[in-house]
Amino acid sequence: MDYYGRQMSKLIEQLSSLPGIGGKSAQRLAFHIVHMPKEQVEQLTNAITDARNNIRYCKECFTLTDQETCPICSNPARDKKTIMVVENTRDLAAYEKTGKYEGVYHVLHGAISPMLGIGPGDIRLKELMQRLQGDVNEVIIATNSSLEGETTAMYISKLIKPTGIKVTRIASGVPVGGDLEYIDEVTLLRALEGRTTL
Ligand code: ZN
Repeated sequence: MDYYGRQMSKLIEQLSSLPGIGGKSAQRLAFHIVHMPKEQVEQLTNAITDARNNIRYCKECFTLTDQETCPICSNPARDKKTIMVVENTRDLAAYEKTGKYEGVYHVLHGAISPMLGIGPGDIRLKELMQRLQGDVNEVIIATNSSLEGETTAMYISKLIKPTGIKVTRIASGVPVGGDLEYIDEVTLLRALEGRTTL
């Protein structure tokens, strides 16, 4: 088993614990790392440690940030009365890349999934409802078009309806089950512009 010596095996083991990294990739990465200049390895490990230590949730939208409030929420030019609800920070990044959305976001960090035992209390829904106590014109639900995303969208719309705030859902030009982050910007924009009132 231990062909490479203890430290090398430990590195391979750590790398292979990362998502999407199988045993072979882990070995390849480990060999690459031990041949990298020491300064570069230090930069890499520092980046990992710094990110882990300093990255937290924005106190308004719950995206990942290294500030108390993320750059989007602290930008006075953004329309705080329009809130787009997304499942994760990667989806937020996908919409930001279009450069056309001027509102703010709310990151749920997941979607309701009875199959996986993820209920409304396990995502940032309570925090969304708290934000709606403020001055909000529209909530755009941009969860994925997967079963979980649709379940979450329905749940949120039912929750918000009684408040009288307008609730819209992005158009389903988005492929079913497609993760938002893999969809091109034109499709995302079309989905946003074609949103319908729930
Ligand atoms: Zn924020």
